[in-house]
Amino acid sequence: MAEQPDWRFCVKCQVLFYDGYNDKGHCPADDGEHARAGYHFVLPHDVPEAPTSQAAWRFCDKCFVLFFDGYEDKKTCPVGDRQHRAAGFQFVLPHDVNGEWDSQTEWRFCIKCQALFYNGYPNPGRCAGGDLHQAAGFHFVLPYYAAQPGPIADRWQQYGGLTGPLGAAVGRAGPNGAAYQFTAAPGLYQGFENGAVAWTPNQGRNMTVAIYEQAGRAVLDWGTTDPWNYDRFIVRWSLTTSDQPLPLDRWSQADVSTGIFHPRTWGSFTLPSPPGGIGSSEGWCYYAIVEGYDNDGDSDQGWTYPVRHRIR
Ligand SMILES: [Zn+2]
Ligand SMILES: [Zn+2]
Ligand SMILES: [Zn+2]
Repeated sequence: MAEQPDWRFCVKCQVLFYDGYNDKGHCPADDGEHARAGYHFVLPHDVPEAPTSQAAWRFCDKCFVLFFDGYEDKKTCPVGDRQHRAAGFQFVLPHDVNGEWDSQTEWRFCIKCQALFYNGYPNPGRCAGGDLHQAAGFHFVLPYYAAQPGPIADRWQQYGGLTGPLGAAVGRAGPNGAAYQFTAAPGLYQGFENGAVAWTPNQGRNMTVAIYEQAGRAVLDWGTTDPWNYDRFIVRWSLTTSDQPLPLDRWSQADVSTGIFHPRTWGSFTLPSPPGGIGSSEGWCYYAIVEGYDNDGDSDQGWTYPVRHRIR
C-alpha cells in the first residue's frame, strides 16, 4: 500500500501536521511552528476509497496540516487569505473501525478549520477558525509505527514506552539491513527515536538486545537468555560515521564479566562515545552484538542478531 510517514501530532494545537520538512508550518496556538510529540503516523494515500475510509484528505502547503478538501470553502488556514491550499498526495483515512495495536482512535474532522485533530483529551485544542476545535463526522483511526508485539514491545514498555529513553518507533520491525550479513540466525530489528531493539531468538526465545541514549551515553542491554545462562558475555561493536559497519575483524570488543552474580541471563554495557560525546555526534552509527560464554570457553548459542543505532 502507498503510504507516507512523518505525520505527527502537534502538542500545541492538537492537529496532525507534516513533519518531513525543516519548516514546521504555522500553528494557530501561538503563530509559531507546530511542535511534534508522540507517535509517528503513517498515512495511506492514492488507494481506492472504501465504506470504512474517506478520500479527499490533503496536505496544506501553507500551514502544514492535513485538511479535508471535499468542500468549496477551504477554511480555515491561519496563513494569508485564510484558505488551505492542497498539495501532494490524496490521502485516504480509515474511519469507524476498531483501534488496533498499531492504530490510534479519537481523530476527528473540525468543522471550523477542516483539519484533522486529536479529540482524546478534555481540551480539543486551539483552532485556526477561532476558539477550540469542534468535532464532526467520522471517527478516524490512524495507523502509526508501533512497537512490535512480543519481546520487542515488552522491552520497550519495560523502559517506559513512549516517555522512556527509546521514544516512539520510527519504522516497522524487519530485517536489520546492512548488518544482516553477519548472521544467518533469525531475528527482528526495530528502530526508535533514540535507539533500537533487536529480537534474537537463537539466544533465548525472549532474548532482546537494546541500544539507547541516556544521560549523554549509549547503553547496551540484553536478556533474557533463559533457558541458558553464562559465566560472562563478550560485547562487540562498530562505531563509525558511515551507515555501513566496519569489517568484522575491526570491531571493538569488551569482556563483560558477571562477577558475583553469575551465572547470568542478562547484562548491560555502556558503549564508548564518539569523540566529542553523543550530543555532538549526529550521524555516527553503532552496531553491536553479544555472545555468552562459560568459563570453560564454551559458547553454544553464538552471537546475537545485530542491533544498530544512528545518532540523530
Ligand atoms: Zn500546532
Ligand atoms: Zn492551511
Ligand atoms: Zn479547528
